[in-house]
Amino acid sequence: MNIKEYRTQFIQELTPIYDAGEAESFFYLILEEKQQLKRIDLALHPDLVFSEEEIGVWNAILKQLKHEIPIQYLLGKTSFYGLDFEVNAAVLIPRPETEELVEWILESQKPKVESQKVKILDIGTGSGCIAISLAKNLPDATVFALDVSEDALATAKINAANNLVNVTFIHQNILETVDLLQQFDIIISNPPYVRNLEKEEIKKNVLENEPHLALFVADNDALVFYKKIAQLAQKNLLPNGQLYFEINQYLGKEMVDLLEKMNFKTVELRKDIYGNDRMTKASFS
Ligand code: GLN
Repeated sequence: MNIKEYRTQFIQELTPIYDAGEAESFFYLILEEKQQLKRIDLALHPDLVFSEEEIGVWNAILKQLKHEIPIQYLLGKTSFYGLDFEVNAAVLIPRPETEELVEWILESQKPKVESQKVKILDIGTGSGCIAISLAKNLPDATVFALDVSEDALATAKINAANNLVNVTFIHQNILETVDLLQQFDIIISNPPYVRNLEKEEIKKNVLENEPHLALFVADNDALVFYKKIAQLAQKNLLPNGQLYFEINQYLGKEMVDLLEKMNFKTVELRKDIYGNDRMTKASFS
């Protein structure tokens, strides 16, 4: 079948669920990943055709897209902060808001010359996107990352190797950790923070495909991870160190109160590109 004809059919079949622009972008992502062809190749060779076998592969992906399985899981990869990451059902798909958190951390490090030697810990690393992009951009930093999920850590290790960075991965449940045993310049976490009461707002493709372990917390203890990590930071963050969190957009004020109550002197709250309270930075100095 002619690829251009298939494209029309592919987009038509997806447009009841996705808008046409999104359906078209899926088409080109798959074209590049599965056929190693770019948009320009199709423009230059309008008579390119798919074999029967190739159509079979495309139709299988099309069927899963109709079931709203995220394209990133179907292709097994995504990009984050300009780097490629493998993703699968054991890890959250990295979000653009989290790229903004990485940007904030890097921006805070740039003015300090000695900062390049910093020791960093990422708690609940998932795909490793935060730890790995920091390691890539702060080549003299020593980066540690921990997660409770062994499957997530296996993926994060592949991602570190593919991106040619050195990150020490630790299998650990942060809620059961008494002491982090080292002092860090930077501690970061994007822990689970979606309350069950917010489930209705979560899109079907997220709810049915992404790991609930990485997403949800109990309605009556939504800040459980933040409390625990801030407590550990009191012991394991260097005096000039910084604690960064990605947070639930509805709990900005509660987060600032929590950090101030726990003796952090400078507490900053930032919004994401969508205008939602999304991240905090705190330090004891
Ligand atoms: N931002 C993610 C979402 O809305 C949640 C990430 C998290 O719980 N850490 O799906």
